[in-house]
Amino acid sequence: MTFKRLAEYFHKLENTTLRNQMTEILAELFKEAPQNEIGKIVYLLQGRVAPLYEAVEFGLADKMIIRAIADGLKVDSQKVTRVFKESGDLGKTAEKLKANVKTKHNLNVLQVFGTLHKTALAGGEGSQDVKIKLLGSLIRDLDSLSVRYLVRIPVAKLRLGFSDMTILDALSWMKAGSKKLRPQFEKAYNVRPDLGLIAETVKRHKENNFNIEPRVGIPILMARAERMGSGEEIIDKIGRCAVEPKYDGFRLQGHKMGNKVELFSRNLENVTHMYPDIVQGIKKQVKTKEAIIEGEAVAYNPQTGEYLPFQETVQRKRKYNIEAKAKEIPLKLFAFELLYQTGKNLIMSEYVERRKQLEKIVARGEVILIAQEEVIDTPKRLEAIFLDTVSRGLEGVMAKKLDGIYRAGSRDFNWIKYKRSYAGKLDDTVDAVVMGYDFGQGKRTAFGIGDFLIGVFDEKLEKYVSIAKIGTGLTDEEWKEIKIRSEKLKAPEKPKNYEVDKIMGCDVWITPKIVVEIRADEITRSPVHTAGRIMGPTKTGSAIEVKEAGLALRFPRLERFRDDKNPTDATTLGELKKMLHRQMKK
Ligand code: AMP
Repeated sequence: MTFKRLAEYFHKLENTTLRNQMTEILAELFKEAPQNEIGKIVYLLQGRVAPLYEAVEFGLADKMIIRAIADGLKVDSQKVTRVFKESGDLGKTAEKLKANVKTKHNLNVLQVFGTLHKTALAGGEGSQDVKIKLLGSLIRDLDSLSVRYLVRIPVAKLRLGFSDMTILDALSWMKAGSKKLRPQFEKAYNVRPDLGLIAETVKRHKENNFNIEPRVGIPILMARAERMGSGEEIIDKIGRCAVEPKYDGFRLQGHKMGNKVELFSRNLENVTHMYPDIVQGIKKQVKTKEAIIEGEAVAYNPQTGEYLPFQETVQRKRKYNIEAKAKEIPLKLFAFELLYQTGKNLIMSEYVERRKQLEKIVARGEVILIAQEEVIDTPKRLEAIFLDTVSRGLEGVMAKKLDGIYRAGSRDFNWIKYKRSYAGKLDDTVDAVVMGYDFGQGKRTAFGIGDFLIGVFDEKLEKYVSIAKIGTGLTDEEWKEIKIRSEKLKAPEKPKNYEVDKIMGCDVWITPKIVVEIRADEITRSPVHTAGRIMGPTKTGSAIEVKEAGLALRFPRLERFRDDKNPTDATTLGELKKMLHRQMKK
């Protein structure tokens, strides 16, 4: 397929906000794509040249892209800068400058992908120049519309407005003319979250029940827990179960391949280099050639033997000064899962079996500890463990269904978290996404930020919907932090996948990236927030009005930044509704 043809599809996708239409356009594209190209096309659709868990980034700032455009089109950098200032969009800048230039070549998708891949991989001394030359050559050899989309890829601004799930829907649409195969494809994706590989596999197989096995070195999407508020509720739901402390650190998935170990965070980031102590621990203590284990990493004080609060643990997430910090704040990994062991996929095995194997393969040692566990069958015992855990300063407990499989990438009742209640009515926090902010008035004008809008993900609409604007309760440091982080994520206009009432509009919109943990007194109803809001025509049919107010947070406060979560891992509208339901039962 020529890149020009692909750009025509990008164009169609850019011009629609309707999810069903996007699905159909993508399905058409997938049908047309040859077997050996579909995987690469899927990466390009995500604005990438590799699956998300591979840290292949372009490392090109706007300034460098301007140089590449100038180089490719043999125009002056200052002229490019001028056009860029007008449009604020490097893609459109390149397109405009290219409009009157005749193009000789018609590159195909594989050629463009290959060159982009090389651009991303170029490293070391002089690599910026190499990158500029490579990108410049593509700009020279492609037509103007292609150039618009090409340039948006290395600056991470392709943003066609669909999620991974829409791609899976489209693959189903290509095969069956409906979305009915999506759950099946999603299962495969949860075990190997590589959309390029899934697309290739779907295209290659005539039948649709292909099996995708986990592979050491490739992260598995992590299982998540439902929440409940008492021992009785839990026993009613899953009966006899295993109860473990809910450690307050961060989740790690460790992959052992012989004497090589890799670590992944909850959002599939490869974080191996950050935690050399855990890497060593796994090498030493995991007594099988290959394994995928999961656990919670928590800092502890070697002098007193005390476990440290999350604020301390999180200091270990850093790019520099790693070794010194590892000595100062060593981590322990409380292992609670074994998903794979030398040739054996354990995801579909029952919890008790996985746990038995886990206990077998982890040798006693300093760093990897097996999570405490007790199998119980009465609410009374569960409450007793819960109280004991909370009194030791932990968050609460996790209850696990004894015959439950590992639900990669899903949240369900095979795992239930039971956290301590707080004074307010809402006992759990909400992980929300920062959508935009307003310039400050009064004291905070100095920071240039007065409040910020947060939202949750509506999984049906596939859009972010608002739940609160927060203007108080942050320290000066936190305000500065939000501002600095937002600066890098500014969007020229309201992103396509935001559903926000006009009244809640922001001075500056930002793309969904920052996840914040928010505590609030309760969930209330508000006509100006769009989470779960239902609109409909007025009686006369002449206008649209609010039929059911949306969900909003009362007295929201920032607890902490959740860098370990992706915006799509944030609380969903469905969960918020369940939290409301539980709140009403109290
Ligand atoms: P939450 O982030 O509130 O949805 O809670 C789920 C998280 O609790 C998991 O992602 C883990 O990071 C953490 N966790 C702590 N202890 C355990 C445990 N024993 N089993 C499973 N998850 C745990």
